[in-house]
Amino acid sequence: MKEKGSAQFTCPGCGFDTFYRYGRSATGNQRYLCLACGRQFTADGGRPVHSARPSCPRCGKEMYLYKREEGLIRYRCSRYPECRTYQKMETTPCPTITPSPEECG
Ligand SMILES: [Zn+2]
Ligand SMILES: [Zn+2]
Repeated sequence: MKEKGSAQFTCPGCGFDTFYRYGRSATGNQRYLCLACGRQFTADGGRPVHSARPSCPRCGKEMYLYKREEGLIRYRCSRYPECRTYQKMETTPCPTITPSPEECG
């Protein structure tokens, strides 16, 4: 039984496809809040983004977000429990630019 599946777009930030409705934008479009990364966006904001979501290294199917931790997103194969492949992806919302002193060694 599938009740979900209405989402025809993915989060532009992380590729996850489950959202909260989050009011409306100034132009009256539905706004959404991504459950995975907390990003706010509108459904008509542009093209669907697929690249952020990894594909299963074992069977090639796309992976769904399984768990979100601080600085880390865990994905699980969409074929679970047939394919029990997990993958973790580090999240870097604000990449810090730190000058790295090079040392010969
Ligand atoms: Zn997101
Ligand atoms: Zn798989």
